[in-house]
Amino acid sequence: MSEPMKPPFESPVMPVMLEGDHQFNFRCHKGISCWNACCSNIDITLTPYDIVRLRKRLGITSAQFLREYTVPFEMEKDGLAGVKMKPVPNGTACRFMVDEGCSVYDDRPASCRYYPVGLMSLRKQDEYVDRDAYAVVKEEHCMGHLEERPITIDEYRQEQGVVEYDRHSRGWRQLVLKKKSSGPSIGSLSLKSRQFFFMASYDPDTFRAFATSESFRESYDLPPELFDEIEASDEALLEFSARLLRQVLFGEVSIPVRQEAVEERNTRKIAAAEAQAAQAAAQHKAALADLNDAERFDASVDDY
Ligand code: SF4
Ligand code: SF4
Repeated sequence: MSEPMKPPFESPVMPVMLEGDHQFNFRCHKGISCWNACCSNIDITLTPYDIVRLRKRLGITSAQFLREYTVPFEMEKDGLAGVKMKPVPNGTACRFMVDEGCSVYDDRPASCRYYPVGLMSLRKQDEYVDRDAYAVVKEEHCMGHLEERPITIDEYRQEQGVVEYDRHSRGWRQLVLKKKSSGPSIGSLSLKSRQFFFMASYDPDTFRAFATSESFRESYDLPPELFDEIEASDEALLEFSARLLRQVLFGEVSIPVRQEAVEERNTRKIAAAEAQAAQAAAQHKAALADLNDAERFDASVDDY
C-alpha cells in the first residue's frame, strides 16, 4: 500500500527503530471501513525486483513498463535516480487499484507488502555491512491498527511474502545505501555512470541484451554457464546487475576484464583513428587538387 518510512538520514523525524520480534496489532481485510484508502494516495518507490515482477505480470517489456507506469525522481542531488509508480491521470490513486483491492496482488511491490511496516536499512559510515530495522507507521486513515490481531514484524513479513522480495533486492539496496552514506568519498557520478545505473537497475530487458551481447562476452572473463543463467532467470540477472554496478560505481572488481579484449579494442580504436586520419588526408588532398584546377581554369579564362 503506501510507501514505507524513509531511512532516518532522509527523514526529519527519527522513527522508533524496531526489531523483527516487535509485536503490534494489525489486520487488513476487505470489510474494513478504510478499504483501499492507502491505495488511493500513493507514493511508491519501486525496486528492480518490483519491476521484474510487474512487467512479467503485465506481459510487457521493462522499457514499456517504465514508460507507461513509472516516473523517475532523484534519490539524491546529482546522484542516483529512482522510479516511482505513476498514479492514475490527474489523480493520486494507484492504477492497479480496483474495487476488490489490488489487481496485481500476487506481484504487488515490496512497499505495498510492507505497509504499515517501514523498512530502514542502516549502515554506519565505517561499516561494510548494513542491518535492517523497522518502524510501524500509524496513519490516521488506516483502521487496521484497531483490529485485535497481535503479530510480530517477522511474522508479518512472512505473511506478506516480503522475505523473497528483500532477498532479491538486497544487493541493489546495499549499493544504493553505500552511495548515499559514503557521501563525497565516492565523489559525484558521471552522467554516463548514472545512466548505466538506471538501465542496469530498472530496465532489465535492455540490461540483459547488453550483458549477453557478443561484445560483453568478449570483454569479460566469465563462465558460459553464468550467461545461460542470466538469459534464463530474472533473479540471476538482478544479482549480476548489482555485481556489475558495484564494479562500475565503486571499483569493486569481481568481474575480470579479458586483457586480450582490451588489447583488441585498443587495436581497433587505433586502426579506426588511422583510417579516419587517412580519409581526412585524402579529402584534404582532393580539395587542394580541386583548388588548383579552379585556379588553372581562372587563369585560362583571363587569357581570353
Ligand atoms: S500495487 Fe496494489 S497494493 Fe500497491 S498501491 Fe497499487 S493497488 Fe495498492
Ligand atoms: S487497513 Fe490500512 S492497509 Fe488496509 S485498506 Fe485500510 S488503510 Fe489500507
